[in-house]
Amino acid sequence: MKTSVVASPGVYRSIGGWLERPRSLQPSLQGRVNADVVVVGAGFAGLSTALELRARGADVVVLEREFAGFGASGRNAGYLAGGQGLELDFFLKRVGREKASRIVGFDEAGVAYVEQRLTELGIACDYNPSGIINAGVHPSQEKALRAKMQLGVELGAPAQFLEPAEMRARGVPPAFLFGSYSPGGGTLQPGKYVTGLRRAALAAGVRLFEGSAVEALGEGAIIECRTAHGHAAAPHVVLAANAYAPQLGWLKDKVLPLRVSAIETEPLSAAQLASLGWPRREGIVTPHLTMESHRLTARDTLILTTKRLAYVYGGQTPNVPDEAAYAQLAIALAERFPTLRGLAVQTCWSGYISFAADALPVVGEGGANGNILYTAGCSGHGVGTQSLIGRLLAERICGDEPAMLQALRHETPSLPPEPLRWAAMRGLLAMANAMDEGVNRKVRAQ
Ligand SMILES: Cc1cc2nc3c(=O)[nH]c(=O)nc-3n(C[C@H](O)[C@H](O)[C@H](O)COP(=O)(O)OP(=O)(O)OC[C@H]3O[C@@H](n4cnc5c(N)ncnc54)[C@H](O)[C@@H]3O)c2cc1C
Repeated sequence: MKTSVVASPGVYRSIGGWLERPRSLQPSLQGRVNADVVVVGAGFAGLSTALELRARGADVVVLEREFAGFGASGRNAGYLAGGQGLELDFFLKRVGREKASRIVGFDEAGVAYVEQRLTELGIACDYNPSGIINAGVHPSQEKALRAKMQLGVELGAPAQFLEPAEMRARGVPPAFLFGSYSPGGGTLQPGKYVTGLRRAALAAGVRLFEGSAVEALGEGAIIECRTAHGHAAAPHVVLAANAYAPQLGWLKDKVLPLRVSAIETEPLSAAQLASLGWPRREGIVTPHLTMESHRLTARDTLILTTKRLAYVYGGQTPNVPDEAAYAQLAIALAERFPTLRGLAVQTCWSGYISFAADALPVVGEGGANGNILYTAGCSGHGVGTQSLIGRLLAERICGDEPAMLQALRHETPSLPPEPLRWAAMRGLLAMANAMDEGVNRKVRAQ
């Protein structure tokens, strides 16, 4: 197959492609406030926690560095995926089958939780419950894909294998040869979802302070969160800053911030859409070591993400474009969708996920009094899980230990210090890219 590379990577959007800075930006924290719980970070995790706590009668303050949805929650691909999306190879041996199946159960429950919350909170976010296909682009990917699917099914994540004829009967674009189809979940517009959570939180009486970066967290029975112009104090703090938590001095040796990038095309014409088929618009991911994700949006654009990840020395999270990643995604666009030759990339953006060495959630308590709860390490699968974790953390703060939270507790392996970490990540990412390129070369040679 001949590659036609789209020349322009599109216009870079520093806040992602799905949302705008809110017109009704909430005031920044000035002076001192007290609450039952202070939540740091207003993404899916922070806002869900705040809403669940309010529903239980707690007085909640949320401190957000920029605005709700500024982090990964406003920049992701919008796949609401269950347990088949997990990196089972990373942790099965480590935690054993019994715990692994409870973790898979948590991911599956995350899908149902978000679906329920969209209804309960009246959030319209273009949700398409299409299911998700992990689709091979070369026959060499089939064996491992079947094995991974089977393992996921055994651990409790439903899926069925789609043979090439079934893929064609579904109208999935022909570059995707066969696939493992997870019927649960689908795709949504994450900007609308996180904005809906923000709106619901404000309506419920959550006190949200935007433009309020926490600079330091104290310790003790009452925890002080210091911002540039104020203090928020509470007997419990929930740290929901995800990939940014290490910059606050938390989870430094547990989670790696990884940059994930996205491109979005201009809207497809009716003829271009017809050339694709794809009537159910299932979210597609590929089984490359670093996956590609391909989806249509309700605004008839195509969004591609991932394919290339980046780690910045010291776990920094600069809000900058990643031209190399956009160029690679443009190649994937041209190669997987040859009927769209000439379709322009309209926008591109990047964001940060947090990755633990075992690819599992990092959830627990810290601080001298054990009253700083944290959640991170969602490893690029946080639309469902980082939403559901809000309910579990709220229940925990209210005195219960939900079984699902218990299932997530485990010893996260420690990461090596810099500069070893940077060197190791550079090597691992280069190796994954080289192996994925090997597959892509075979596809081109067909
Ligand atoms: C390009 C991309 C594609 C992805 N695709 C998918 C997908 O399709 N499906 C899926 O399930 N997951 C996907 N993910 C991952 C998913 O977006 C995340 O797992 C999820 O959004 C994490 O939510 P969160 O609330 O934990 O963190 P975030 O959304 O990152 O929220 C953290 C918040 O904390 C704030 N903050 C940081 N530091 C401070 C501070 N000092 N003081 C106050 N506030 C602070 C940040 O501004 C941010 O708003 C993707 C991620 C990216 C980047």
